[in-house]
Amino acid sequence: MSESHDGRCLCGGVRYRVNGPLRHVIACHCSQCRRTSGHFVAATSANTTDIEFLSDATLTWYASSSEAQRGFCNRCGGNLFWRVNGALKTSIMAGTLDTPTGLRIAEHIFVEDKSDYYEVDDD
Ligand SMILES: [Zn+2]
Ligand SMILES: [Zn+2]
Repeated sequence: MSESHDGRCLCGGVRYRVNGPLRHVIACHCSQCRRTSGHFVAATSANTTDIEFLSDATLTWYASSSEAQRGFCNRCGGNLFWRVNGALKTSIMAGTLDTPTGLRIAEHIFVEDKSDYYEVDDD
């Protein structure tokens, strides 16, 4: 039985299908994720080669550092992907997946870089 998950941005200009397993969700509170998402990023991850684009008409990649890039929709502004240059895995913003995702937030990272208006209470 093959596993597959669909997702899209708000306007639908970017639609994708993941033909393979997804990692648990990691919440990243680093300053780059804060500024690109407006809060923090909750992302799963998949093999880059498992991601099939049903539409990438409005997908733009932004080099957020010399090492990584972020994929977003240039029409609705939705954040969709994060990838280390040349990496075999691509992070996928978990909120862009259709539900049920079957996923859980399993980890918080860069909590020390989070903003000051919320707490991370999970163990
Ligand atoms: Zn869009
Ligand atoms: Zn981050």
